[in-house]
Amino acid sequence: MPQHMTQAIVLHAIDYAESDRIVSLYSLDFGKLRGIAKGAKKSLRRFGSSLEPFTCNEVTFSDRETHGLVRLERCRILRAYPEIACDVKRLVLGSYLLELVDTLTAEKEHHPEIFDLLLFFIDLLTGREFREELLRLFELRLFGYLGYQPQFQHCALCREPFDVQGVYGFSIQRGGIVCPRCEGQAAGLLPLSNGTIRLLQQAQGLEFSKLQRLFFSQMARDESRRIFSRFLEFHIGHRPRSLEIMEQLS
Ligand SMILES: [Zn+2]
Repeated sequence: MPQHMTQAIVLHAIDYAESDRIVSLYSLDFGKLRGIAKGAKKSLRRFGSSLEPFTCNEVTFSDRETHGLVRLERCRILRAYPEIACDVKRLVLGSYLLELVDTLTAEKEHHPEIFDLLLFFIDLLTGREFREELLRLFELRLFGYLGYQPQFQHCALCREPFDVQGVYGFSIQRGGIVCPRCEGQAAGLLPLSNGTIRLLQQAQGLEFSKLQRLFFSQMARDESRRIFSRFLEFHIGHRPRSLEIMEQLS
């Protein structure tokens, strides 16, 4: 069976049978992997705490290719985040990042930029400056990398560029802003102020390492939260569990 080595972040792990764990990972070179860690529950020697969510490991695995699960052979911790697990707010926000990546990505689809984005945001989450609105920037980037970038630069119907004099709405079905001339052709538009549109346009153009420099007004925070959660639900067909928990906590 061919063996491979890559860096990977643990998204999710559950106990399986008597002594194994089934793990979902996001890797740098192979995208999302689902693997079985034999004996991980009983013996700490081979895997230790490397299978805790958020942990970034150097992972060695073998892949039979015809079989769904890869077999994890070894994990060497590159970066662990114990500070996330002991802070409820960080844990809830971070679990949302992991759940989004786990839910939105397909297995073995190579997107190294998603690995970099996730690692960058996990690091950011451990800092003092993390704000909930940064989740919107994570969502925005992730949507873009996966090919359903919401459109804020021009009207999703007539393609006319955004005009700051106009009043726009956001169409979940069309995946973008809709201008005043087209609003009659798009049902259920969500309100979106021009200030928020400008901010999101700016966010789409920035390198992600600079995203934390953006600050949201209360209005931008509320509007973008509502739009992105509806947009996400539209694409995945349900509400992410960690989003529900986050709303209950706030
Ligand atoms: Zn239009």
